[in-house]
Amino acid sequence: MYSTVHGRLKDQYIQDWFNKAKINNSLDVLNYLKKSYTVSPYLSKILTPNVRGIFARLRINNSILYHSKSTGIINVCPCCTLNVVETVKHFLLECPFFAEHRNEHFKLINDSLHYFISLSKMDKYKILLDLSSEFGNLSDLTIRCIITYIKSIYNMRKNIT
Ligand SMILES: [Zn+2]
Repeated sequence: MYSTVHGRLKDQYIQDWFNKAKINNSLDVLNYLKKSYTVSPYLSKILTPNVRGIFARLRINNSILYHSKSTGIINVCPCCTLNVVETVKHFLLECPFFAEHRNEHFKLINDSLHYFISLSKMDKYKILLDLSSEFGNLSDLTIRCIITYIKSIYNMRKNIT
């Protein structure tokens, strides 16, 4: 009896959480990444708290980027001249300002994760922010490359206003 009630309440809570997240525009990144109510892989793979914080902030769209909950404004990217909204996707995968860093790191990632460069933009996006892949396990080297990439462009971005 207790376990049935407990199970029902848990299901209801999870359903409620997903429903609330779905209608929250600022959680668009998380909605894309998270399909089940389980502990996200990146949490156990990043050991440094402030780096884990960078990933968490990007995932819940509460970062230093202009299209972010914390700034409260939806503004174009200050790093390039493309005149597009500075989303997490633009930041990680598109902004030309970070192209050199991106190419260099994506090549390193591809050395240990051979299909990486050929993946779609959205598949890359998911691997970068989840630190896991549905296509196979990520090696420690791949994970280190991804962390270095995101950490370095985030620190570069911090110096731009
Ligand atoms: Zn840009």
